[in-house]
Amino acid sequence: MTEPANRPFVEFDRVQKSYDGETLVVKDLNLQMPKGEFLTMLGPSGSGKTTCLMMLAGFETATHGEINLDGRSINNIPPHKRGIGMVFQNYALFPHMTVAENLAFPLEVRGMDKSEREAKVKRALEMVQMGAFAARRPAQLSGGQKQRIALARALVFEPELVLMDEPLGALDKQLREHMQFEIKHLHESLGITVVYVTHDQTEALTMSDRVAVFNDGVIQQLAPPDELYERPQNSFVAGFIGENNRLEGTIESIEGSKATVRLKTGELID
Ligand code: ADP
Repeated sequence: MTEPANRPFVEFDRVQKSYDGETLVVKDLNLQMPKGEFLTMLGPSGSGKTTCLMMLAGFETATHGEINLDGRSINNIPPHKRGIGMVFQNYALFPHMTVAENLAFPLEVRGMDKSEREAKVKRALEMVQMGAFAARRPAQLSGGQKQRIALARALVFEPELVLMDEPLGALDKQLREHMQFEIKHLHESLGITVVYVTHDQTEALTMSDRVAVFNDGVIQQLAPPDELYERPQNSFVAGFIGENNRLEGTIESIEGSKATVRLKTGELID
């Protein structure tokens, strides 16, 4: 069977989510990602980013619409069968297991035999430069080391899609910048598709191929970082991108969180 070359790898097709059967926290979301893309969901707290990630991972179910992975609906596929790696802010490492055991666990769950597990664990630890730490327990690691192990654990079964939810939120600024570089490098060298959630615009703008700016369950703009800087589609995006905005203009008025900006071209945007 021939496959259309432009078929999206990840697709949200008119997805809605309500937790209480009333309020939509994700409203009619359409999003298509090609294979290999690094897409960041950026937006304030409560704007629906994590909910989107949880639906993609399979821990939440869409109230309406379809989520497709590589052309197939995954609505009815349980999380562990989706072939998706995940990294979260709180590492979620098992404290009673060594680093190597933490990494081997998802492979064991998949029924992989011991020698193959060991080879994959070794390779994943090398990827994040943690080969020497295999026998340690999480409590014996620094925050940055734990986050590297969490990253290795997400990569250990060679997923094609990796989801990251504020993975660097607990790290200090310097380490965060270093890890951004490492994550980007891993993305490029492994050719994986990444959906990355953050409220940190610097992180979003430095790492991503495209950024989806969320507010109130809606993607306000989906564009490469440069375009967000240069052509924010509305006042929310312009305001959120804020001080990093390279638009040359002056703020004419501010009402609540809405600003009206006059660009050098004379155009007014709000
Ligand atoms: P973000 O990741 O952008 O901070 P979330 O997706 O976590 O946003 O949350 C979107 C909205 O859904 C918020 O109003 C939040 O309170 C609500 N919400 C998130 N998870 C749950 C849940 N498990 N039960 C009920 N409401 C939830």
